[in-house]
Amino acid sequence: MPILAVNGGKKLRNKPFPSYNTIGKKEEEAVLRVLRSGKLSTFLGTWHDDFNGGSEVQELEKEWSKYFRVKHSICVNSATSGLYAAVGAIGIKPGDEVIVSPYTMSASATAILLYGGIPVFADIEEDYFCIDPKSIEKLITNKTTAIMAVDIFGQPCDFDTINKIAKKYDLKVIEDTAQAPYAKLGDKFAGTLGDIGVFSLNYHKHIHAGEGGIVVTNDDELALKIKLIRNHAEAVIDAKGYTHKEELHNMLGFNYRMTEIEASIARVQLTKLKNVVEQRIENINYLANKLSTIPCLTIAPTRKNATHSYYIHPIIFNQDMITVNRNKFIDAVKAELPKTLLRDDSDVLLGYGYCKPLYLQPLYQEQICFDKYPFSLTNRVYSKGDCPTCEDMHYNKLITHELMRPGMTKEDLDDVIKAFTKVWNNRDELI
Ligand SMILES: *Cc1c(COP(=O)(O)O)cnc(C)c1O
Repeated sequence: MPILAVNGGKKLRNKPFPSYNTIGKKEEEAVLRVLRSGKLSTFLGTWHDDFNGGSEVQELEKEWSKYFRVKHSICVNSATSGLYAAVGAIGIKPGDEVIVSPYTMSASATAILLYGGIPVFADIEEDYFCIDPKSIEKLITNKTTAIMAVDIFGQPCDFDTINKIAKKYDLKVIEDTAQAPYAKLGDKFAGTLGDIGVFSLNYHKHIHAGEGGIVVTNDDELALKIKLIRNHAEAVIDAKGYTHKEELHNMLGFNYRMTEIEASIARVQLTKLKNVVEQRIENINYLANKLSTIPCLTIAPTRKNATHSYYIHPIIFNQDMITVNRNKFIDAVKAELPKTLLRDDSDVLLGYGYCKPLYLQPLYQEQICFDKYPFSLTNRVYSKGDCPTCEDMHYNKLITHELMRPGMTKEDLDDVIKAFTKVWNNRDELI
């Protein structure tokens, strides 16, 4: 009789894991306040007091700046829009190269293409999965103008080294911190470590407003450009009297405006961030303690001097300790565990690596963007083997999960540990 559920044995647990839901009474009250006011957004795409949005948006911006100790916060309708605005603000021109991690959500690199820039993919660090500064330096050419550093899984990149490289070669640094609100390097918050930082408020992130994003910077000029891009730049340039000299006359704007309802929800959510991250850390510590005793698993470390905010928890699969491969092992653990409520779209929140290295996606393999542009401006090709550490992690070694999300009780976490342990103890059944 098989013991493991993947082979037809009895599943360890059927009852779904609890949902992660941080939306409560205060958010409800905030939304009602806005609805009753009748002002669901007051943005105007002309040079006017309302160019910078309604009172909820502007209050959220003030509160965000105070919280993260940064001069400017600019609300947008998604982190994707925020990344687009950031790339636009630093003035990426057609053919400019921007060095970016391939192990990230697609928008980190798409933002570069939108402005005709060429994404150049640097390999990742073996321990932390962030862009590897050693790999960045090797890829710098006279066309390189910026680095897009992504605080992947909730861990800040090695900004001490990245900023040194940026200074040496006169590059701008954009920090995609969609996954790392409340993460820190030293006493500075992730998001404030480069020239521009971009946070996400989408449903899947630590705190959310359904959709939304916030761009932060300490640079007045970049902040102005981001605000222009958010709200139809070209329509206000004349009235504002901007000239060629200020390099603002040629800006194209979009509508990246956040609504008052989203901003009102985000203001409440921000007050919950610290607690949400602390619970994640507590759950990770509990899990890591027990999971690290399983010989085929190594808990990935946190960078020295950093606080991880655990959007995703990375675990390394030690192929040397076991005769089955990672995917088979994960399949077996998944078969023991239930789904998580409110995540009806996904099965067990346990993954084979993260997302496919971006340069292996059709967009890069076939170089099909705006017809061939901007790839037509470069001789670069994107090939399997470009970033060997990233590929090895994705296809062989990395296990990711989100089973530490607040709402999980000690008993729930114990079931996660029991599932991994059961599969390890009965690994011979998988051969
Ligand atoms: C979620 C995410 C984004 C995009 O966020 P949206 O708010 O959904 O646009 C960008 N980068 C990373 C790393 C993300 O995880």
